[in-house]
Amino acid sequence: MRKHNFGAGPGILPESAVRKTQEALLDFNGTGMGVMEISHRSKDFDAVLSKAKLLVKELLHVPDSHDVIFLQGGASQQFAMVPMNFLKTKAAYIEQGTWSSKAIKEAKNIGEVVVIASSKDKNFSYQPTGYSIPKDVDYLHICSNETIHGTQVKNFPDSPVPVICDMSSDIFSRPVDISKFDLIYAGAQKNMGPAGVTLVILKKDAAGKHGKKLPAIFDYKTHLDNNSVYNTPPVISILVCMYTLEWLKSMGGVDGIQKVNSQKATLFYNEVDSNPMFTGTAEKNDRSPMNACFLLKDPALDEEFLNLTKKAGIVGIKGHRSVGGFRASMYNALPLESVKVLVNAMKEFANVKA
Ligand code: PMP
Repeated sequence: MRKHNFGAGPGILPESAVRKTQEALLDFNGTGMGVMEISHRSKDFDAVLSKAKLLVKELLHVPDSHDVIFLQGGASQQFAMVPMNFLKTKAAYIEQGTWSSKAIKEAKNIGEVVVIASSKDKNFSYQPTGYSIPKDVDYLHICSNETIHGTQVKNFPDSPVPVICDMSSDIFSRPVDISKFDLIYAGAQKNMGPAGVTLVILKKDAAGKHGKKLPAIFDYKTHLDNNSVYNTPPVISILVCMYTLEWLKSMGGVDGIQKVNSQKATLFYNEVDSNPMFTGTAEKNDRSPMNACFLLKDPALDEEFLNLTKKAGIVGIKGHRSVGGFRASMYNALPLESVKVLVNAMKEFANVKA
């Protein structure tokens, strides 16, 4: 029996993807070799790479102006690569939580950064709005979903400058107009596959315009020109992404999964709001359907609640230390059934304590 896995990342994967990977480990495509043992330049892997890329393009409706590359180093490497490639004079950042703060810190190592809005005053429990974007910056950096604080950007700003977005924790969970962004990046390990690969979607003509002598490995143009095989890519991670995206397609794509995600989020947040024992931490309008942060009104009961959920087969709901309490991550592959189990555990807890 698989657990009800609410972990924030690496997160739950579709069972079909895990099973197919299990088979591929020993004998991939009848080659007599496991997928971890084949050349990244073999025709078998080439087919995987092309299919994974095609699925990203298809599922997200990536326009012809943009291309898809697979990198390593996680989203954290993107915190550095973005300013290395795009920061010439000044860049604007929005400080929305732990992850965008890390992106800001890295960018400051490269050049001048202006933080144009922040929600730090309330421990990042809301998404800043109403800011104006300066015209004299090279780009605006924004994080679509702050995984730790459980807040999501509902409407992306209309921007006079290129927009770069960290979509690590909500990519493929809702439709996005890709043409609004010069670059989108996402560590795979939540909605797309396992850790070890990072998705980058970038506007082709924006790459390679930095005018600097960058190490080739940190230059987006290198990877664009070499179709993600400039160096040895994480073959198995890309294969699992391919299987996961095939599953997503079978679920009706991003539109289909958004409906399920919305059912899960509604069910969960309704319980948080109606159960007298619990309270949510994020501003209601900014609540993330991917990561729901919540507290017991009496934190002395935390351990007892955790034990009860454990008995129900629930794992991964302990909150991040900077927010406390609990966090239920409800990524694409988490079944609605798992949310029902959690909600029932919350109801049961309230009954026992009443
Ligand atoms: N950005 C966001 C929004 C994240 O959730 C995470 C990881 N949880 C990161 C960046 C960092 O990703 P990685 O560990 O792949 O470097």
